[in-house]
Amino acid sequence: MSSEKDLSQLSLDKKVVLETVNLSRYYKRGEQIIKALDNVSVKIYRGEPTAVMGPSGSGKTTFLNLIGLLDKPTSGSILINGQDVTFMSSKQIVDLRRHTIGFIFQFYNLIDVLTARENVELPLLIAGVKKKERVQRTAALLSLVGLSDRVNHLPDELSGGEQQRVAIARALANNPSLILADEPTGDLDSKTGRAVMKILLDSCKERDIGLIVVTHDKDIANLTDRILYLRDGRLIGETRPKS
Ligand code: ADP
Ligand code: MG
Repeated sequence: MSSEKDLSQLSLDKKVVLETVNLSRYYKRGEQIIKALDNVSVKIYRGEPTAVMGPSGSGKTTFLNLIGLLDKPTSGSILINGQDVTFMSSKQIVDLRRHTIGFIFQFYNLIDVLTARENVELPLLIAGVKKKERVQRTAALLSLVGLSDRVNHLPDELSGGEQQRVAIARALANNPSLILADEPTGDLDSKTGRAVMKILLDSCKERDIGLIVVTHDKDIANLTDRILYLRDGRLIGETRPKS
């Protein structure tokens, strides 16, 4: 009986890509302490796209910056693929960020002097992937996001939706375990936003990648499998829109 339970626990834990334990980030503003993130413990699973919602100032960006290893917590810990990354050296962090986490931003953040192909190829170049494989992977990724006929265009020759699809391809380039998206549809009309979300959700499901999408948009959050709600830096609950 107890060994059965251990086994089911094991298979569940296998799919955990990110875990935070009592994660907090406080800021001092004069005499005041601002609890931007307050004791958040949560597990995120591969292949289970998860949205994070909450009013402005509730700690969404703080949460994303901490788990994206762009900021350090005041207390608590972060585990990625079971490894405690809270006290890693900055060199290890840069490496982990490069190989394990993909980022997608509201305003795409493409490099405007590089073509779509070059933007997707860049993280592979940085990671030291050989030319032949770079060329193949870049072409496959741009095809995946439906941009095979736009590979030589510069970002400003592409629509917002197309630019975000390039950013998705770029985020997927190094086969990350986890993709973090901060308002990825915030600058798109709702029809384009849904189409872009669908590409993102499908790619993460197919590749069994963890996905966290911060959004203000209830319709976008409802496309995911799980919604977490933040308020005043605290995780106040979660829902499963499809069940
Ligand atoms: P959200 O992304 O949900 O709008 P944030 O994570 O940006 O919220 O902010 C959470 C809280 O932390 C807010 O009260 C904000 O003012 C505060 N905060 C964020 N960054 C800083 C900072 N660098 N210094 C001081 N306070 C900050
Ligand atoms: Mg924010």
